[in-house]
Amino acid sequence: MTYIPTIGLEIHAELKTKSKMFCGCPNDPDEPRPNHTVCPICMGHPGTLPVINREAVRHMVRIGTAVGGTIADFTEFDRKNYFYPDIPKGYQISQYEYPLVVGGSINGIALTRIHLEEDTASSLHEDAVYSNLNFNRAGVPLMELVTEPVIHDATLASAFARELRTLLRTLGASGANMEKGEMRVEANVSVAQEGAPLGTKVEVKNLNSFRSVERAIAYEIQRHIALLEKGEKIVQETSGWDEAGQKTFTQRVKEEAQEYRYFPDPDLPKLRISRIPEFTDDKVRATLPELPWETRARLVGKLGISAENAELLVQDVALLAFFDEVCTRLKGDSTRIRLAVNYLTSDVLGLVQEGVASLGAIIAQSPAEFAALIDMVADNTVSSRGAKDTLRAWVVEGGDPHAIAEREGLLQVDDDDALGVMAEEIVAEHQAVVEEYRAGKEASLQFLVGQGMKRSKGSANPVRLRELLIAKIAD
Ligand code: ADP
Ligand code: ZN
Ligand code: MG
Repeated sequence: MTYIPTIGLEIHAELKTKSKMFCGCPNDPDEPRPNHTVCPICMGHPGTLPVINREAVRHMVRIGTAVGGTIADFTEFDRKNYFYPDIPKGYQISQYEYPLVVGGSINGIALTRIHLEEDTASSLHEDAVYSNLNFNRAGVPLMELVTEPVIHDATLASAFARELRTLLRTLGASGANMEKGEMRVEANVSVAQEGAPLGTKVEVKNLNSFRSVERAIAYEIQRHIALLEKGEKIVQETSGWDEAGQKTFTQRVKEEAQEYRYFPDPDLPKLRISRIPEFTDDKVRATLPELPWETRARLVGKLGISAENAELLVQDVALLAFFDEVCTRLKGDSTRIRLAVNYLTSDVLGLVQEGVASLGAIIAQSPAEFAALIDMVADNTVSSRGAKDTLRAWVVEGGDPHAIAEREGLLQVDDDDALGVMAEEIVAEHQAVVEEYRAGKEASLQFLVGQGMKRSKGSANPVRLRELLIAKIAD
């Protein structure tokens, strides 16, 4: 029997704004003091009036445009009614019939909708009896993106979530950090026989890393297949992911769809997006940065950078900006640009891993200086060995790389007089090795060149040194 798994994702992401969705409280996910960024509006006091945050709507319109969705002309906010201590109004302001964005796609996966709502307070369960509530998060603008049930593979599902994170970061719309709960993924999973209609779905929650998204979906697919093989039915339910046990567990069985009694919030105005000059299509497009898939096409297609290195740049907005600045300084010379990519992705990131300096500190330095170092390598002003030492010093102290290389004695010595003296000394000091070479042992010459490189701390031009050694030995 061939079973086809199907996955649809629902992803929430907190939007990066100065203030919260409907009040003036700061939207600061790093505020450590509980219940500090709060006011009567976001604590749900009766009689308060919400005001729509324009910046949050702007993020939504930009995200919707980036994914090729349709920006709703008419949109409104609804009350989603339910009782839970983290939402003391008794309802969450969300969108129902008229979401801000409809359609679009990411990585070829069709989106159903993206709507805007408010986040709830966070509940901290102290023990079996007591829970604490922190309202700093209450009222933070939250987008919810829903995909169509068109994903058929756990790896592709987690790749979709990753690509959404990259897009949100590129747009500056969200930190989208899953570990911090800035982005939360719920996976709907079903399995059906080939050709049959979609099977009964199970919704898996509390996935807080991309790895758990992939593993939970894979686990759930196998569980469904095992049940179907035994001729059993899948029960529609909401389950959680047990990170320690690496398995899903039932949270609640859905008897019937929950009735939220959605209705338009009478305290908020309807929005006619097309009538807001700032949100017309051309205006919005003009504000979009290069999108991740466009950056990949440019780096790989135009600049000939490997897909792997391109991805390192696409995944880090600040590193990419630094790289683009360096490219401008290198005046489009493709050999130098590829050299710059290699130095950035292998040497610079290597030094960061070693703990020599933080990436943030390094890219806060001058791209012109980094470009000058690349020029020195390309022009053979330093050897590749010398360049690495120069880079190590530069990431810590910054400044003119040429001056650093000069101070450290790392400038490539091409000067025949200096190299000639060195060759003479080496020959004099290693007579036995010289005899071996004369007797036909090629490797001995390499040893002598190596002595020169050691003496010059890598700054001697090895090709010229070799020629001079051969000449001296022949004398
Ligand atoms: P509900 O009414 O239960 O909220 P929706 O139709 O609104 O269900 O879909 C919610 C999410 O579940 C969407 O991401 C959708 O793609 C996904 N989904 C719907 N049906 C299935 C299914 N049979 N298998 C897998 N995912 C599904
Ligand atoms: Zn507030
Ligand atoms: Mg639904």
